[in-house]
Amino acid sequence: MSVAWIALVAVLGALIGSFANVVVYRWPRGESVVTPRSRCPSCGRTLAPIDLVPVLSWLALRGRCRTCGAPIAPRYARVEAFFAVGFGVLAWAYPVELHGASVVPLLALFAMLTTAALIDLDTFLLPDALTLPAALVGVAGAALYARSSGLPTVAEALVGAAVASGVLVLINRIGGLVLRRFADTEERLWPFSLDAVNVAALAGAVGGWRIALAAGAAQVLASTVARRPVRAPEPLLYALWLLVLVLAASGIFLGWGVGVVESAAGTVIGAGAFAFLGAAWWWGAEIASGKRTAPLDEAGAPEDDDGEPVAMGFGDVKLAAALGAMLGWDGFLVGLLFAVVLGAVVGVAQRALGGSRFVPFGPFLVVGGFLALAFADALVGWYLGLLGV
Ligand SMILES: [Zn+2]
Repeated sequence: MSVAWIALVAVLGALIGSFANVVVYRWPRGESVVTPRSRCPSCGRTLAPIDLVPVLSWLALRGRCRTCGAPIAPRYARVEAFFAVGFGVLAWAYPVELHGASVVPLLALFAMLTTAALIDLDTFLLPDALTLPAALVGVAGAALYARSSGLPTVAEALVGAAVASGVLVLINRIGGLVLRRFADTEERLWPFSLDAVNVAALAGAVGGWRIALAAGAAQVLASTVARRPVRAPEPLLYALWLLVLVLAASGIFLGWGVGVVESAAGTVIGAGAFAFLGAAWWWGAEIASGKRTAPLDEAGAPEDDDGEPVAMGFGDVKLAAALGAMLGWDGFLVGLLFAVVLGAVVGVAQRALGGSRFVPFGPFLVVGGFLALAFADALVGWYLGLLGV
């Protein structure tokens, strides 16, 4: 039964991988992912079902079009095989007999986030249409996890999403500040702006996560009433933020109840919550206004919407929310560690081989996240074993 089930899920993965190829090719060009049917790019013939069997068609046709003999890129078959293996491994690691429907949200997240990572590789863009719904699947899907699976509860998924986007948005803001040589940001948005993120980060460092959420909400409310962004100079805020964290780490705050752990948790949860709410708000506003351009037109170097240089794209912040929901905050930090190590290894290898292509961070985050899903428990257990706990 079990082997048949795993094989069935792997076949489903290959079929979804085949659809992912279509999305990865068409989405950046602003084309419909549903119509028209797939064609050979050389001779234009509409492909028949026999040409579209994942992996097998490519192998049977030896990587060539059946009509005109033009070569078909091996990447399509590789993506289908990767989806089949990923789905199969998840079905094997989270067996239905033991953990019920736990595997269903994981399969959805694997499909959505792998597709987003492939688009990021091609275009340096992570589509909101994939990352934001994936974060929702990560939080809502947690309701389906069996307790025996060791996966997060809904509350843990929410905290994981906030911590994950908080860590990445703080890297984004502080990295951006350094790249701008500590000049204030040019961003002028309301009601949701980076000011809310910055204010929540500082308030969270001072008073923990409840104070962070209250302060961020106050900033959004003030901007809404004023009908313009109520500014909080970014260089000043992060100078204070650093001071508060140093004081918390040195134990000075312990007198009135906020220790270093509460301070650090407050700052990442506050910053992450308002980064994610802002991202969701502006995505909704973009859809409501109906002025969506073909994403490829705006692709380019890693800059944010105002053309400011940033250390890490804002798309990574939304992607991190989805991974944080899937892994919980502790699993996400393990995944981030995997991603940074993988990114460094690939970067060094690329330089050694004389390549210079800029590789975005999103794909490393996705691979690191799923490695953490597989290995975080074993790794944390091994580490605690070393400490003799
Ligand atoms: Zn052809």
